Amino acid sequence: MSISEKLHEVKERVAQAALLAGVDPDSIILVGATKTNDASRVREAIAAGLKVCGENRVQEMLEKNAQAAYEGAELHFIGHLQKNKVKNVVGLVSLIHSVDSHALMDEIEKQAAKLGLVQDVLLEINIGREAAKSGFFVEALPAALEKAAQLPHIRVRGLMAVPPICAEGEENRPYFLTMKQLFIDNKGKKYDNVSMDFMSMGMSGDFETAIACGANMIRLGSVIFGARDYTRR
Ligand SMILES: *Cc1c(COP(=O)(O)O)cnc(C)c1O
Repeated sequence: MSISEKLHEVKERVAQAALLAGVDPDSIILVGATKTNDASRVREAIAAGLKVCGENRVQEMLEKNAQAAYEGAELHFIGHLQKNKVKNVVGLVSLIHSVDSHALMDEIEKQAAKLGLVQDVLLEINIGREAAKSGFFVEALPAALEKAAQLPHIRVRGLMAVPPICAEGEENRPYFLTMKQLFIDNKGKKYDNVSMDFMSMGMSGDFETAIACGANMIRLGSVIFGARDYTRR
């Protein structure tokens, strides 16, 4: 199947899952996880109707951006972001999904202030409390939101999570439900520079479960682009 055929098929599945969850299919933002796919494959997906691209690695993103790979689409950063790479990302992407520390917030604030812009971000939650993963523990979220409220060049637009890898997408439901509750609890709170608009969770193996649990931003790679070929990079 071509990228275009796979994208159309996956959009059908997203729409079905949205209807089952009782939400408007158009309210679900599909972010194409484009890592390891070269500029021509990214362009192919955009031509087929992909509206948002999400990249994981700064270097790879800069290379493809220099080749105008993302023209016609929005660009997000979804991977772990190192402090020393923040200056390459702020202002280039419309949303950083993966803000996982106070130090990273400080650096984004500094670079965004320099450029005179406000950077939209999501706070990443380490929902499985995994030592190998980054992200705030649930109990650290209030302090992170209080911190963000003091940074005028950062706007928190919601939460993001990558649950532990499971054999079955359905096994992630408890994590997604915890995220849903966290999202709802914080939507009602008033912090400056914070609006709980987006909940980014769900990947190729579990996006339907994520949508059932309230995700309105899903990050899909292999289901659109096929299995990743890491040997080409
Ligand atoms: C690669 C990646 C995805 C997409 O993974 P698939 O299983 O291929 O859909 C989503 N989110 C992040 C953070 C990723 O790195």
